[in-house]
Amino acid sequence: MLRIGAAAAIGACLPSIADADTSADALRTVDAATTEEIVLTGSMTRVEFVRKGLQLHLKQIQRDGRPPLLYADRYLQQAGADTLGNPMAVVVLSGPHQGVYGMDGFEITGIQMSGSRVLAYFKHSSLPLQSGIEVTVEGDVIEWRGQAAWNGADDVDLDFYFPLLARIKLSGPNLDRLVAGELSGTARGPLGDLNFSQTYLGGLSTPAYLIDGGDCGFAFLEDSLADFAADPGGCRQRSAVIGNVFPLVDDLDVALELPRGSQGPFAGWRHRRLLLGTSRFGGQAEYDKAESDGTLPIIKLGDSVDLGPVFTYLYDGPWKVAALWLRERRQHLPMRASPASWYRETTLLAEESPDGLFRAGRGLYDLPLIMRERREVGSDMLSLPGFSEPEIMGTQKNMLNRGDYFYTAENLGGLEAVRRGVEAAHREGGHILLYVEGLIVWKRSRIGRSKARDWALMNADGSLTENYKGFFDMCPAEKGWQDWFATTLADVVRETGVDGFFMDSMLATDNHRCFNPKHSHAPQPDIWNWGLRQVLRRVREEVDKANPNTILLCEGVGDMAREFIDGTLSHGHAWTRMNFTVPLLRFLHPQMRTFEAWGMQPHGRNAPLWPVAKPLLWNAVNGYRVFAELESQEQLAPLGRMVRKYFDMYPEICDAQVSAFDTACVEVWTQIFESLPRVLTVANATEKPITARMTFPQTVQTGILFDRCDQRTISVRFGKAELSLDPWEFRAFELRP
Ligand SMILES: [Zn+2]
Repeated sequence: MLRIGAAAAIGACLPSIADADTSADALRTVDAATTEEIVLTGSMTRVEFVRKGLQLHLKQIQRDGRPPLLYADRYLQQAGADTLGNPMAVVVLSGPHQGVYGMDGFEITGIQMSGSRVLAYFKHSSLPLQSGIEVTVEGDVIEWRGQAAWNGADDVDLDFYFPLLARIKLSGPNLDRLVAGELSGTARGPLGDLNFSQTYLGGLSTPAYLIDGGDCGFAFLEDSLADFAADPGGCRQRSAVIGNVFPLVDDLDVALELPRGSQGPFAGWRHRRLLLGTSRFGGQAEYDKAESDGTLPIIKLGDSVDLGPVFTYLYDGPWKVAALWLRERRQHLPMRASPASWYRETTLLAEESPDGLFRAGRGLYDLPLIMRERREVGSDMLSLPGFSEPEIMGTQKNMLNRGDYFYTAENLGGLEAVRRGVEAAHREGGHILLYVEGLIVWKRSRIGRSKARDWALMNADGSLTENYKGFFDMCPAEKGWQDWFATTLADVVRETGVDGFFMDSMLATDNHRCFNPKHSHAPQPDIWNWGLRQVLRRVREEVDKANPNTILLCEGVGDMAREFIDGTLSHGHAWTRMNFTVPLLRFLHPQMRTFEAWGMQPHGRNAPLWPVAKPLLWNAVNGYRVFAELESQEQLAPLGRMVRKYFDMYPEICDAQVSAFDTACVEVWTQIFESLPRVLTVANATEKPITARMTFPQTVQTGILFDRCDQRTISVRFGKAELSLDPWEFRAFELRP
């Protein structure tokens, strides 16, 4: 029963902007004629704002002993350009208010501050928008929180850039670089030439990046929990934006090709959301009648969006210092441990193609034979596409007919063949994953001709998206698709006895919005992450009923998904045009179990070709599991077996934490793993024999390097060791005292 009297009494206890409060940090209004400096201090980090009348601007961020982070604009003689952040900018994407709005349009309605925190409320001078920002400094970490409420009658699509740090400089625009949670990790730069925009999920696999100045930098983490809620009400699309042209285009390939701009370098987070208008909620009349208690600093008549929390850590040292902080901050992410012991020990994944089977006159009875062949490259887990029927009987386009997974390919032997084949592969110690598509359905498949159209992603104009010709794009947040996909996969496990699935596209697809009004998430379109989490949860629930040892791998990388899946498969080297040069995700989460591809050549214009062994060695040194693609399989087989030998002898390489300490060594790639004892990996990624001269940091005391594979030892004197390596050789050592 609603007790009106009690509710009114609670309301009366809320702090009010009008309440007389004489304490130093009370919420107060400001005088339009005065100016003041607001300085927030942590341990060594200092954040300065300036209030000029009703306007608030971020003036400077500085860590003691380091140059200031924001540099003065040559023309404006102030930090940042006026439309560009410091700390916020708004871009209205459509409608009568379309345009870019900077801090000068936000007028303070109330402000509260202490030595380490400022909270300010604003109304906008030309938009029906009210907002609040709160900035807190603790130690050397700045926390940014924001909220914005839309009071326009109609819905509006908005991008909030918050925080947006404009005109940033560490060592200089030609030296500073971006280290991003893009796929398994990338380094891009220099910052002065870079235009980079990536969304989490759908490009970014973790909502974090660093701006690295060589021996110092700052890390940015967007740590909202909205995607984990039971409903999508708090969700918005969040993207890392780092560049010199504002506003940045969404498409990374287009952004990377943009000519160098003059508005940066800037770095920040973009929060995109469709804000519903007041007409959906009854407007002022409804508010006055039932919702107002007359005390709140922001009047919320329409929809609102939360911005952040975003954390900025100003650090000294190499990128691993910031990564250690990120690792700790992201510990709250749940990550599943598979009960399948065979899978925990599996470090290489190979693939087969249905075309290859047809050409060789083989079928599903031959799975043990194919498994034996893949063992020659070091793998005993096989991903098999095209195991289900083609669209038209008598044809061989099994792979195209994505959706009809329940109907096993008669042209490859049918259900009996896959059952017998899987069983025999098991007896030989092999394991089979079947290939399914997580996000697209062939329009002329059975499910494509029945329900898939209703589950498809819809653009704002009512058209269906079609990223691949002839396919429907599934909305991951649509319950019909989730249930059908989950129960179909469970049925396939029951029918065939297969070990699990490789779900293509799932984490490797750009973050899409869905405006389909029939979907249960409507009217909110920014449900991509929330939906992926829901669909993967449903799949896990259903396949576990059939067999709790079922392995689920997704294409792409995404830390949030790891709660329900067992690992991911990524072409990190090729997809990033060989910018996968910092193993950020392996450092943050050893549990990620990403199988990184070995042989695919880079995509995109002007991408350099790498010798095929190079990506494999990079993966091995940094402890990534390996996806042994069909491409280059013959060429890479001997090296694949060598890597497998070391992975078997040193489980630490794929499972242990990457060390924060590095050897100093320019000739070869090395990595240290924090196991007991510590393990060192070394690779010569060149076609010449090399004598590597390694220097260990004082914190890593070692007297002998011992190789478990050939029992050879190498002396370490005064922290230095020399190691001769053949071309393309990979080795690992225990670090013994
Ligand atoms: Zn949808």
